[in-house]
Amino acid sequence: MLNQDQLTQLRKNLHKHPELSHQERQTAQRIRTLFSDFNSDEVHENLGGYGLAFVFNGSQPGPTTLIRSELDALPIQEINDFAHRSITDGVSHKCGHDGHMAIVSALGAVLSQRKPVKGRVILCFQPAEETGAGAVDMVNDSRFAPLIPDYAFALHNYPGLQRGKVAVKPGTFNCASRGIVIQLKGKTSHAAHPEDGLSPALAMCKVIESLSQLPQAVKAQGIKDRCWVTVVHAKLGEVAFGTAPGEAVVMATLRSETNQGMQTLVDLAEHWANTHTQQAGLQVAIHYDDVFQASVNSEEGFQRVVTACRNTDTHYQVMADPMRWSEDFGQFTAVAKQGAMFALGAGELSPQLHNPDYDFDDSLIPVGKALFLDLIKQINELT
Ligand SMILES: [Zn+2]
Ligand SMILES: [Zn+2]
Repeated sequence: MLNQDQLTQLRKNLHKHPELSHQERQTAQRIRTLFSDFNSDEVHENLGGYGLAFVFNGSQPGPTTLIRSELDALPIQEINDFAHRSITDGVSHKCGHDGHMAIVSALGAVLSQRKPVKGRVILCFQPAEETGAGAVDMVNDSRFAPLIPDYAFALHNYPGLQRGKVAVKPGTFNCASRGIVIQLKGKTSHAAHPEDGLSPALAMCKVIESLSQLPQAVKAQGIKDRCWVTVVHAKLGEVAFGTAPGEAVVMATLRSETNQGMQTLVDLAEHWANTHTQQAGLQVAIHYDDVFQASVNSEEGFQRVVTACRNTDTHYQVMADPMRWSEDFGQFTAVAKQGAMFALGAGELSPQLHNPDYDFDDSLIPVGKALFLDLIKQINELT
């Protein structure tokens, strides 16, 4: 069993040594070494990158429950000066994945002494959550096929919500989102003779205007799910007064409460990008980055989280609306069919996630551990 001091030390050590998405080799090795004391029945490494899965088998048949943590940190310079600050310039754990790893490690220590009675429990450490690529890579890894769970659960610490309080809802918990990159190609010319070239300037403005109007256009199609579009970047030509521009790029983040709403956003964005560029005689190329499906909680998964809160005397609230931020955990609930993600309050005064002064609150480790353990007991029972 790991006590709170050991778990806090583990968390701070992980915080001190952050690694970016797809580069979590040493973090995975640290967890792998820690778990070598926990007598799991199977260890699966390098799943979808540096992903790890530790399997604890019960003696009777039953369902498989997967509990997920993330391995990666962010490209953010830490401004805290405490002893466990990041030793890597420009990289730090600003989403609390260090804390999530400590919580799931605490479960490993418990399962090393108390096995599931039925079915099996998988403790999973996924890579590259921040880019939206890690969960999909892990789930699509052929070696993950025998590990596909019946239930999947995860938590995310959540600044702004009372410390130690859970927020959860059935249905969409995190919105779908994706980055769209629209490249417009015309032809440069001397600025004195713009008529010899083909400038994408006006088409670029129209694309930006159309993107900004997409949420109303989706509504006009009768789709009730809320959508948001944020134009995040635009560039036209080069900084040169002697040259009329020949290329432009527009980037925006599309966001929707459902995957269906996202599909409509994508269809409309592509339609308007194609229309405006064709009218101007330009070429267009469209691609996507950071694609997140909506993370959807099943009704049973939601109810089990509520039951876990009651069983552990944890305050909870049922959210009216989903979190607007995205999470690739939805890939696990999509294959498991049952499961839920929930938020665990990090306090009203905590700096927000992804902010340079953020740090995970270690007092959440026992709360998260107790909630997950209760979920495991509900589904798999423990010896
Ligand atoms: Zn994050
Ligand atoms: Zn996160």
